[in-house]
Amino acid sequence: MVKICCLGAGYVGGPTMAVIALKCPSIEVVVVDISQTRIAAWNSDQLPIYEPGLDEVVKECRGRNLFFSTDLEKHVSEADIIFVSVNTPTKTRGLGAGKAADLTYWESAARMIADVSKSDKIVVEKSTVPVKTAEAIEKILTHNSKGINFQILSNPEFLAEGTAIQDLFNPDRVLIGGRETPEGQKAIQSLSDVYAHWVPKDRIIATNLWSAELSKLAANAFLAQRISSVNAMSALCEATGADVAEVAHAVGKDTRIGPKFLNASVGFGGSCFQKDILNLVYICECNGLPEVANYWKQVIKINDYQKTRFVNRVVSSMFNTVSGKKIAVLGFAFKKDTGDTRETPAIDVCKGLLGDKARLSIYDPQVTEDQIQRDLSLNKFEWDHPIHLQPMSPTSVKQATVVWDAYEATKDAHGICILTEWDEFKTLDYQRIFDNMQKPAFVFDGRNIVNADKLREIGFIVYSIGKPLDS
Ligand code: NAD
Repeated sequence: MVKICCLGAGYVGGPTMAVIALKCPSIEVVVVDISQTRIAAWNSDQLPIYEPGLDEVVKECRGRNLFFSTDLEKHVSEADIIFVSVNTPTKTRGLGAGKAADLTYWESAARMIADVSKSDKIVVEKSTVPVKTAEAIEKILTHNSKGINFQILSNPEFLAEGTAIQDLFNPDRVLIGGRETPEGQKAIQSLSDVYAHWVPKDRIIATNLWSAELSKLAANAFLAQRISSVNAMSALCEATGADVAEVAHAVGKDTRIGPKFLNASVGFGGSCFQKDILNLVYICECNGLPEVANYWKQVIKINDYQKTRFVNRVVSSMFNTVSGKKIAVLGFAFKKDTGDTRETPAIDVCKGLLGDKARLSIYDPQVTEDQIQRDLSLNKFEWDHPIHLQPMSPTSVKQATVVWDAYEATKDAHGICILTEWDEFKTLDYQRIFDNMQKPAFVFDGRNIVNADKLREIGFIVYSIGKPLDS
């Protein structure tokens, strides 16, 4: 029986391994993590992450051929294939701080693998890493390899949170990069055989190591760039009377461009887009390509600008002050169908409004009060662009309360900011909400999900991103 071990039981490691276990009953899959709480949650009925369809997959395989453990050394030493899916955040200090990927967790994982291995292993980069990381890992693994053959593969993950299970069941592609040696090609074949249990062969792409590593950064940079492009257009639409939805529809009809990922919004978030672009910027700079670095930096600058623009619109629409006014914030997660708040635009928007002394009442169906309070208390790490937001004082953070119902959040509010596109916000009883709000009652739709015309009929003043403004 082939044995797989995955280091890192997070948003990627957990769901990815659960799907491999489901689709390959003949393979034993053990997910290990240094966090005891995370592993305990994976072994309980309350999984550590919310992801549609995940509970069912885990229930079916856990205890059969899927296991979660904190005994890293035992399972690494027994495995044939080791996935490493640890976090690779942006460095916050030292060389490359604010841009480069922090590979501390990766290095410690690689050293542990080197220490405990007694037989040949395939080591798979599942985390998103800078191009050429495999070279460094090879050095660490082979330095004291005791005759063991380690083959490093790059197999970046392209799942999106909120649709992770669907994406894993039916991936657009599975990318596997390896060395061009016979051993490297054999390792690629072994990993392809795992995916071939359910992924059509023509979707499994084999490349060299550096192409695979760089493709993941490139894919995230392209996706984020599309969002910044449409958001940049949304600002121009508001200034000219064009409608960004109509422009996106017309542009997306061009088959060379395509219709997906063209929704204007308050900005992108999540743990990956900004981190991976900063990483790309750093790699460009290190390779003597400052113009290319500047090109990608602009994607983040537009994203920051979009959040600032949104805050400014809220304040200017509400007669240039939100001081003491109650504002309901609907949605805090960085997108719907996840409880993940890493880099969510809601953090910057809430901080901007708190900075203007608003009182916030925040509701999100999947995000806990602790998470929100922690996110608002932490000061944002500044990279090399000016940030409009000042550090939050504890008093300002206290001006934000978290409630468990959209109606409670909006009661007596002067305005509503919709910051996550949760389906339930589309079908709220807006007449009831309007009746219980201060007047004039404002809606600022940061995701363009509500029917603005209907809300205007009720009496709301509505701002939608990139749409003609209410007079
Ligand atoms: P995460 O923070 O949710 O999970 C990482 C886990 O690794 C944590 O539970 C941590 O305790 C564990 N860990 C750290 N060091 C360890 C070690 N030495 N041994 C064992 N476990 C260790 O992160 P994530 O969102 O799952 O992302 C993991 C990687 O995948 C990152 O590189 C990320 O960029 C990439 N990625 C993320 C997504 C996404 O949507 N979240 C998608 C594609 C790729």
